[in-house]
Amino acid sequence: MLFPTYDDLQHRRARFTYGTAGSPTIEALAQAWTELSGAAGTVLTPSGLAAVTVALMSVVNAGDHLLVTDSAYRPTRQFCDGVLARFGVEIEYYDPLIGAGIVASLRANTRAVLVEAPGSQSFEMQDVPAIAEAVHARGGSVIMDNTWATPLLFPAHARGVDLVIEAGTKYLSGGSDLLLGLTTANAKHWPALRRTFDHFAMCAGPEDVFLGLRGLRTMALRLREHGQQALAMAEWLQARPEVLRVLHPALPDDPGHAIWKRDFSGASGLFGVILKPASAGAVAAMLDGLELFGMGFSWGGFESLVIPFDCKAYRTATSWEPGGPGLRFHIGLEDLDDLKADLDAGFARLRAAR
Ligand SMILES: *Cc1c(COP(=O)(O)O)cnc(C)c1O
Repeated sequence: MLFPTYDDLQHRRARFTYGTAGSPTIEALAQAWTELSGAAGTVLTPSGLAAVTVALMSVVNAGDHLLVTDSAYRPTRQFCDGVLARFGVEIEYYDPLIGAGIVASLRANTRAVLVEAPGSQSFEMQDVPAIAEAVHARGGSVIMDNTWATPLLFPAHARGVDLVIEAGTKYLSGGSDLLLGLTTANAKHWPALRRTFDHFAMCAGPEDVFLGLRGLRTMALRLREHGQQALAMAEWLQARPEVLRVLHPALPDDPGHAIWKRDFSGASGLFGVILKPASAGAVAAMLDGLELFGMGFSWGGFESLVIPFDCKAYRTATSWEPGGPGLRFHIGLEDLDDLKADLDAGFARLRAAR
């Protein structure tokens, strides 16, 4: 980026001054996302996890107390415990179902509360407006990982959240072919977020931003399809004899259904299943033979995925005793009957190996 004259350079008189500070492509996606989110501003980061870390770093200081939901995305926990704790932030995990009861956990030095709904892998819903009201009354900030719903299905800022994170790697992409994060802030939190982002120069790559901008055009359509397919699949799985429980807030008998119905305008394609007790070998027999479902962590693309999960390995504030092995599904855009046939054959292998 070049300046036409000495005087222009001295006064930084140019729309774009340096690569890490922005570009027309970055500005186009950031502006669109800001508008979609009802925010004051957006920073684009090279991954969803970077969007989480820049949000946290813009708010907490040494000596602060940070409350993190026990259902948070696991690498978020690892950043809190591995980095923020080293810099003198006291991290405390809380029960995701705490709601307005969060008030009992707030201390004089509680700077922020991190929420995520539904929970990563466990899919509990959180009463975000109630938490936000309690935290704001004490002068704290609320940070939310909204990757599951996107701003289209949960308008987090309008529900009281100050800083909102989206892993654009997931639904904004839709193609499983980029890494991108977006953090939005309301007017009060925007200057600190922008400043922190600039200090870290944590900028996203131009190709990923371009692909994100392209994905934005079809995100609403794709989300609608993922949501419908996933709910149909969740209902089908609920009726299977091998399944103990389905974790999906849009199912009427889900414990989080009332909150989901009140606050969200739809569901995306990710949900969990607890199988009736089965050996690891039987689960492996089911998953290894699947033809359409891939096994991988990053979701939100066109393809259906399944991974085994066990929250017991890392939970600290609550216990996780689901009563059987957990599987997390992402339902893609393939034909639903083909997907059911793939799982039907998988269940036959599970039964045979049990
Ligand atoms: C995937 C994911 C992230 C991180 O996104 P990356 O781009 O993979 O770093 C953050 N939060 C949630 C809920 C996610 O699912």
